[in-house]
Amino acid sequence: MNFQSAELTQQVAQTARDFAQQHIRPHVMDWDESQEFPLHIFKEMGKLGLMGVLVPEEYGGAGLSYFEYKSVIEEISKVCGSIGLSLAAHNSLCTGHIMTFANEEQKKKWLPKLATAEWIGAWGLTEANTGSDAGNMKCTAVKDGNDWVINGAKNWITHGNSGDIAVVVCRTGDSRTKNNSTSFVVERGTKGFGAGKKENKLGMRASETTEMIFDNCRIPDANRLGEVGEGFKQSMKVLDGGRISIASLSLGIAKGAYEAALKYSKERYQFDQPISNFQGISFKLADMATEIAAADMLTLQACDLKNRGEEVTKAAAMAKYYASEVAVKVANDAVQVFGGYGYTKDFPVEKYYRDAKLCTIGEGTSEIQKLVISREVLRK
Ligand SMILES: Cc1cc2nc3c(=O)[nH]c(=O)nc-3n(C[C@H](O)[C@H](O)[C@H](O)COP(=O)(O)OP(=O)(O)OC[C@H]3O[C@@H](n4cnc5c(N)ncnc54)[C@H](O)[C@@H]3O)c2cc1C
Repeated sequence: MNFQSAELTQQVAQTARDFAQQHIRPHVMDWDESQEFPLHIFKEMGKLGLMGVLVPEEYGGAGLSYFEYKSVIEEISKVCGSIGLSLAAHNSLCTGHIMTFANEEQKKKWLPKLATAEWIGAWGLTEANTGSDAGNMKCTAVKDGNDWVINGAKNWITHGNSGDIAVVVCRTGDSRTKNNSTSFVVERGTKGFGAGKKENKLGMRASETTEMIFDNCRIPDANRLGEVGEGFKQSMKVLDGGRISIASLSLGIAKGAYEAALKYSKERYQFDQPISNFQGISFKLADMATEIAAADMLTLQACDLKNRGEEVTKAAAMAKYYASEVAVKVANDAVQVFGGYGYTKDFPVEKYYRDAKLCTIGEGTSEIQKLVISREVLRK
């Protein structure tokens, strides 16, 4: 594997970096404070191909690889984790599910709209009482003639309100049996489909997180993705890709926090010298740099396997688990480097600190990643 970033990857990273500096950085704290989901930013990113990075060109996407995708999520998240999270959810969850499991007709219908950000995508697996234990879902879809009728709710859904289209995984068989769930596409405006409570969050506040409610929501069988009974299996495959997204998001946050701390450590004087002269600070920077490099390698490894179509479950879980824990640690240390100033909203590190924590929770907690990794390790 060649760890040297290719010219194309560097160009794509530069595009995302420039966009983030120009269009996102000036507004980050306002959006955070007001919990505004800046829809127009996603429409703009759509024009640059950032909303369909992995979607083949024939469906209106940029047709790039996971290396470029990683760099896009990372560069945007360096500036704002919330925008990085929403970008990741749109690209790899909703769009990723349709790209992987839809038939040709369905792909032609939905992918061009998603890839250009004409439509924003949501993905609903989690419910109020079934997060880590997602297979025990209660939201049901019942066949009625050539339609399906969905009843129940999905919680913690990124773009649950603003999304124009949602992939929803519903139970279609008996509770606690194998192959008892199925995936469907539900378009906004379908009768019986609406949004519920919007979460008031610690971090990632500009990324919209809401409940999706289904009340006798009737959709045609043509909106079913793949076979009946395959919803949970499909979701686990989608989450393999999703975990590469969250590892990239974590890396972006960690790198943003590290770069801020590095710069500040050279500018801040105490005892008549820059604080970077103190080993207590410089060793923190050494740990940050080392752990970020290790997380980067794990994420690149997962991207490489995914690009080659190889088994990626263990590698993606390792990358997500390690990079997210590193993001939390690095952001915590960055606040420490800034001292009292780091505890205020005048400096960027408190936001990295708040945003980073989501990375150890979303798309499977760190404990669930260890469950996945240990299962894979013990299987051999
Ligand atoms: C900002 C945000 C955005 C999100 N976006 C989406 C989205 O777009 N779509 C979607 O479907 N979901 C989304 N989620 C949901 C997210 O994936 C879940 O929150 C996550 O999977 C954890 O589920 P839970 O919150 O129910 O925690 P729980 O499952 O209740 O876990 C609570 C604690 O118990 C631990 N635990 C549970 N089971 C085990 C076990 N077997 N072994 C060891 N420890 C265990 C967990 O690790 C955790 O520490 C989002 C969540 C957030 C916060």
